[in-house]
Amino acid sequence: DWQQLEYHLQGIDGQQYGAYKRLLGKYEHAGPRFTLSVDHVQGDAYAAPSKVRSIVPWSETGFPKEYLDSDVRRIALCDFVSRIAGSIIQAKHLDRNVGNSNGGWSGPKGGAFSICMPGTEILPRTSAVIAGGDSIELRFTVSLPAAGRTILGQQAYQILAVNLVEIVRKALLHANLDQQSLGRHIESAERQESLRSQLSKKGLIAFISNGAVLPRASGASQAPLSGASVVGFRAPAEMEVTLTSSDGQSFTGMGIPKGVTLLTGGGFHGKSTLLEALELGVYNHIPGDGREAVVTDPTAFKIRAEDGRGIASTDISPFIRNLPGGKSTTAFSTEDASGSTSMSANIQEALEAGCKTLLIDEDSSATNLLVRDQRMQTLIRNEPITPLISKVSALYNQHGVSTVIVIGGLGDWLAVANRIIAMDSYVPHDITEKAQGVVRQFPGTIMQDAAYGSLPKRSFRVDLQGLKSPFASRKRFIALRSQIKDAVDDPSQAESGVDLEGLDQIVEIGQSRTIAVLLQRIAGQTGARGLSLGELLKRLEMLIGVDKCSLASLEGGDLVAVRPLELAAALSRLRGAALQVDATS
Ligand code: ADP
Ligand code: MG
Repeated sequence: DWQQLEYHLQGIDGQQYGAYKRLLGKYEHAGPRFTLSVDHVQGDAYAAPSKVRSIVPWSETGFPKEYLDSDVRRIALCDFVSRIAGSIIQAKHLDRNVGNSNGGWSGPKGGAFSICMPGTEILPRTSAVIAGGDSIELRFTVSLPAAGRTILGQQAYQILAVNLVEIVRKALLHANLDQQSLGRHIESAERQESLRSQLSKKGLIAFISNGAVLPRASGASQAPLSGASVVGFRAPAEMEVTLTSSDGQSFTGMGIPKGVTLLTGGGFHGKSTLLEALELGVYNHIPGDGREAVVTDPTAFKIRAEDGRGIASTDISPFIRNLPGGKSTTAFSTEDASGSTSMSANIQEALEAGCKTLLIDEDSSATNLLVRDQRMQTLIRNEPITPLISKVSALYNQHGVSTVIVIGGLGDWLAVANRIIAMDSYVPHDITEKAQGVVRQFPGTIMQDAAYGSLPKRSFRVDLQGLKSPFASRKRFIALRSQIKDAVDDPSQAESGVDLEGLDQIVEIGQSRTIAVLLQRIAGQTGARGLSLGELLKRLEMLIGVDKCSLASLEGGDLVAVRPLELAAALSRLRGAALQVDATS
């Protein structure tokens, strides 16, 4: 019980660091009733921090039991309590930075508590977990304090027996937290889920509510832009739809229908901002984010050019054929892709992984993959590239895959879009008819293929020992320490890695960590024959259940859920001998 913890901490005070290992185990706290589980103890003060969990019986928390009723509620609840715990810890750390002593919350001799702090999306995360339904737990890391190699028992006591209890009280007891905010958090997540689930039936791939605030405070902040300059979203009359969420609230806004949609308008009028909101509309957002009623087809995938990426036996033949030298493009491999080959591989691999909506911004595209105008068609006869403009209609007609594309300067695209939206001072206008008039006035001769071509089908074998050197980037970088275990934001700490910088829909480093962990699980499974993407995901499901709630079965408190689409994209970006791929059809 709890006395045991105090007894241990007294006993090891002043001893060598290794004696901390004695703390491993479980301790029962009374008032509030919870279990402290010390799961991992670091070997020395500089090693990766120790892992602890505080597990509170559901009955002790006082949370309404209907919060357990659905996945989305549990996820939102866990997300909320993670935020509270995270903000308590952050506030204490700030205290210390302004020079106050802060009672062992963090210090030069260790004692830093940390929990993985969520961003602006409500996501399944292992920082807080509902296991079974009879308890809820918070998972922390803590660096146990020492002076040199000597244990500071008193400080460790402050951390584990005082500060941790305070976090449990404030974050996991319903009576002590802001119940209204919690209620709103859960309702908001449910509402977003409900709006998103209606899209397909209504023939839509996205919905943006009137009044939504899309722009962000800055390129480095996901907080909403505030102040008088913000223009709230307003749907054009022609595209206005009203959706009613599961709790009976109705939302009027712009519905983007399936098919090919062009976002156009002058530079700086808000095109990319709208597209980014669509990219992140696959996730639920926290109340106050401004995008709480912006929802997108959950399989929507951002496609960009990504020159330099590796490609392993991907069929890019719909877009590229007849390369000089006769190199095959039905199973195309390279260690250093060009803009157009990388972009066509990104499209094909997204389709392979089940994407039904492509999101594209000309700002981040290879122009020669988007279009080839009449003059170039006439002049250059041996062009291996068939641009997307010639395929995008067939892609929809044949495979039901929609495209939303931001185009400012390529007028040929007007002829292939079903719907054309012009952004004017951040306000969208439906100019479909007007644009079709322009097309009749200046008819072009863009060749449109009736058939899209083949979709890739590959089988994968993964061997992480074969990984090559790292590629630098920030939060989307999986840096692999010896055994692919961890994603860190400092590439110099990596021994090898996978560059995920091209994946715009990864929003937290915790997602990169999850990808690292899942790749490791995959690596043990693929065998000599290789597995298709579908088989691979099924295998993972059997192993750990990759569905939203069973992330909990994974160790550690710093993992955040990712879609199979991002996992598949990471897999395709493994390099060299790490990935053996056969094209199976
Ligand atoms: P484009 O892609 O059309 O060139 P951006 O989407 O990059 O334009 O937007 C240009 C600038 O306008 C950005 O700084 C963005 O934050 C800001 N912005 C976008 N939408 C709005 C809005 N609704 N209200 C206020 N500012 C906005
Ligand atoms: Mg732009």
